[in-house]
Amino acid sequence: MTQTARQTTADNPLDIVIVGAGFAGLYALQRALTSGRQAVVIERGDGVGGTWYWNRYPGARCDVQSMEYSYSFDAALQQEWSWTERYAAQPEILEYANHVADRFHLRPHIEFKRTVAKMVYLEDRKVWQTVTSDGANYFSRFCIMATGCLSSTNLPEFEGLNTFEGESYHTGQWPHHPVTFEGKKVGIIGTGSSAIQSIPIIAESCEHLTIFQRTPNYSIPAHNGPIDPDYVATIKNNYDDFRAQNKQMFAGFGAHQTRWDDSVFAADEATREARFETRWQEGGLGFSSSFNDTGSNLEANQIAAEFVRNKIRSQVDNKETAELLCPDQVLGCKRVCVDTNYYATYNRPNVSLVSVKEHPIEAITPKGLVTGGQAYDFDMLIFATGFDAMTGTLSKIRIEGIDGLTLNEKWAEGPKTYLGLAVTGFPNLFTVSGPGSPSVLSNMIVTIEQHINWIMNCLDHLASIEAGTIEATMEAETHWVTLGNDIAAGTLFPTCNSWYLGANVPGKPRIFMPYVGGFPSYAEICDQIQREGYTGFSIR
Ligand code: NAP
Repeated sequence: MTQTARQTTADNPLDIVIVGAGFAGLYALQRALTSGRQAVVIERGDGVGGTWYWNRYPGARCDVQSMEYSYSFDAALQQEWSWTERYAAQPEILEYANHVADRFHLRPHIEFKRTVAKMVYLEDRKVWQTVTSDGANYFSRFCIMATGCLSSTNLPEFEGLNTFEGESYHTGQWPHHPVTFEGKKVGIIGTGSSAIQSIPIIAESCEHLTIFQRTPNYSIPAHNGPIDPDYVATIKNNYDDFRAQNKQMFAGFGAHQTRWDDSVFAADEATREARFETRWQEGGLGFSSSFNDTGSNLEANQIAAEFVRNKIRSQVDNKETAELLCPDQVLGCKRVCVDTNYYATYNRPNVSLVSVKEHPIEAITPKGLVTGGQAYDFDMLIFATGFDAMTGTLSKIRIEGIDGLTLNEKWAEGPKTYLGLAVTGFPNLFTVSGPGSPSVLSNMIVTIEQHINWIMNCLDHLASIEAGTIEATMEAETHWVTLGNDIAAGTLFPTCNSWYLGANVPGKPRIFMPYVGGFPSYAEICDQIQREGYTGFSIR
């Protein structure tokens, strides 16, 4: 395929170029090949797995349960694969991605260690030209951007960033060689999901761990452990029903949990506490759905938030540290974390917490860093500073659509899409889990499958009517962006500086990027558009 791909020309293009070999790229390729299409995946890493290929930091684990965070497209695959833990760890998820690549013979169609630098729509040919940084050219009728939502790391431009003489790592680009912490003084910047998962593991073996926290996060215990074989058997006996039920859930997962649809205000205090405690003991992201209004009503939200703060206070011995760890933003405004032993780690004598909220990190130095006028020396610095989410990777590629307009120019004031799938001015190019779709607010594999299925149905439709191009109309795109903004404005999401809003990257336009209307209604809208003959698209 490498040769074939290189030999494509504008006159003899491939059907599809897929960018990225994560879960979206693998499934897109599987569907493309089984439908007899000529496709190639271009991947910058030297292996499959996307986010699970890059995020190898200690403790990396999915916060959606194993039986839900997996492909549903192949009945045999879901029967034969066995997860070992309730929440799968990164190595096991990566093994699963590799298994899928081998099982469906995908690897020969993936070009590894190639970074897409430029994509140009050749209007006269109705063909996309994709150019990699090492000069390879691919021509295709369609492009599927399976580039991931959290695939471009965010490394703040601290003064003196490159002067540090010790080991330094970003959690999102963790090295492939073993990293040891024994006998080392380690500093970690950030307290998002990546830090919250890695801190307890690093603390177990390092000499001392100092955590630099700007904003505390809410974290719910995972209560992880070996997966219950009876639970697995029950689901595998009826996996299709389980998948279907999950697709009816707001975020595409959690159907196994008891569902409550009452207001926090309808419950007396004892009932509230008991409900929150039940969810806390179940563990995981389901805590946010203890009542029907903790996500939408500020007062209700803060009742749930106070329950979590009290849990933090009860777990952390040092009162000052406990208070520093208590978040005051809206619960769920930044993504809630799921942890194993996070708060208890602060009771270890070799762990200390430094707040950089009032005194930002002034500089990275050859020996460590300076904040609040105080210097801290380290053998190792870990940047758990997150990602340029949702648009970061797309913005690194020069994507030229009609009349040479680039995607970066088009999105200068924030991303605009139709359904998070298509962009006006960029015909035949699809964004998987793009801004404007439920994406990061949902179970990614569920939404990836839904998007790829939609795209493949669309390609079948175009073939059946012998159409060459499909493009979102400006009217439909504008309407979709307005709808997304209106729904988001009615929620508590825009109330804090989250990466959902682009607020973690200096200069990034502040737009609430994911679609907040929930997976089921979103999927229904997409289906309806397809049923009605692609309303909002211009097909030629
Ligand atoms: P993140 O949530 O964006 O956290 C980054 C952390 O770095 C925040 O605490 C942030 O503070 C801090 N930070 C950034 N710039 C800073 C600066 N200049 N000075 C001091 N602190 C700074 O990133 P993440 O932890 O990598 O997680 C990102 C997302 O990836 C998660 O929300 C989740 O969706 C996904 N993820 C999922 C899992 C899982 O499945 N379990 C695991 C890891 C990640 P502020 O909050 O003040 O900006």
